[in-house]
Amino acid sequence: MARHTVTLIPGDGIGVETSAAMQRVVEACGAEIDWEIAEAGAHCLETEGTPLPDSTIEAVKRNKVAIKGPITTPVGTGFRSVNVALRKTLGLYVCLRPVVSLPGAGGRYDNVDLVIVRENSEDLYAGVEFKEGSEGARKLIDLCTEEGAGTIRPDSGISVKPISVTASQDIVRYAFEYALKHGRKKVTAAHKANIMKYSDGLFLRVAHEVAKEYEGRVDFDDRIIDAFCMNMVTDPSQFDVVVFPNLYGDIASDLAAGLVGGLGIAPGANIGKEYAVFEAVHGSAPNIAGQNKANPTAEILSAAMMLDHLGELEAAARIRRAVTEVYAAGECLTGDIRNLTGSDKPAASCTEFTDALVAALAK
Ligand code: NAD
Repeated sequence: MARHTVTLIPGDGIGVETSAAMQRVVEACGAEIDWEIAEAGAHCLETEGTPLPDSTIEAVKRNKVAIKGPITTPVGTGFRSVNVALRKTLGLYVCLRPVVSLPGAGGRYDNVDLVIVRENSEDLYAGVEFKEGSEGARKLIDLCTEEGAGTIRPDSGISVKPISVTASQDIVRYAFEYALKHGRKKVTAAHKANIMKYSDGLFLRVAHEVAKEYEGRVDFDDRIIDAFCMNMVTDPSQFDVVVFPNLYGDIASDLAAGLVGGLGIAPGANIGKEYAVFEAVHGSAPNIAGQNKANPTAEILSAAMMLDHLGELEAAARIRRAVTEVYAAGECLTGDIRNLTGSDKPAASCTEFTDALVAALAK
């Protein structure tokens, strides 16, 4: 087995606890990983003057692979999301989120096995915004009126939704290539092209064009996002690989996670042409941070995705088998899962759950 150096960004909030648990499990699965710790988040503001120090970006670039815990983004301040900045700086244009039922995890369905492929660089997440009352907002409002594009109230704040041919081709092609590589049968594109003709309409047109290249090898269909949400709740087994523009993908990820046991078990990855950063779907959960209550499964399953990416397929499979075993046994599960299942067994702490996984890996 090869040794790999991986950048570990623990993040803040529950990230500190879930990252420590993830490290223990990766060490127990036999993979040979050297961790290079790098910091990001509000706590770096005092020491480094920025929430995303250059040294952290350099560390990811050097090792090409990173795993990170969640990072808090204060709401309604000038503080821009570190997560969005990392994705932009490193060209991580794909957000990949497998959603798979785990036995005993309290999901509403036990037959979910789908993959969310979310565009990660543009759409309403592009960060192109004009503050209400600003000169920029005024000019944009005037331009819309002059162009006959529509009337916007003068006291509006504006977020721009750019969707390009380039990024849409890249993400849809990634979804089809992923389907081919992993033996999946169908790609579905989710959109709101009936209303946003020039942004979502473009995304859908490009999706149809790219789909033609894969005709006969991977099936394709599309779904309007609101219908998609309803279909997900009533029968998620009809979906296989689903490709989304950025914002819908963000929302659909949480919806999908909710169907199989919640955010505590939903892993993810941000992938670019050169670099990959693995991270759970969930945020920093300030309401339970520092209490040893967090469920580290999502970050641990993100580490399994990272091991796949590094070519350590057997080590990744061992982690997944251990997770399935501990969930199926149902003896040692964290409070989020106990709440979902309505179980009256006591909730395990983050540490106790990790101990159970390490013990399963030692068998
Ligand atoms: P959240 O995901 O942190 O929490 C939502 C709910 O799920 C909370 O009740 C929380 O306790 C629970 N939860 C989440 N993860 C859990 C886990 N592993 N185990 C047990 N329970 C868990 O979402 P939020 O409250 O909207 O966001 C909190 C902060 O996290 C915000 O600042 C947000 O910007 C940030 N955030 C960061 C990332 C990231 O770093 N990738 C992603 C999403 C949100």
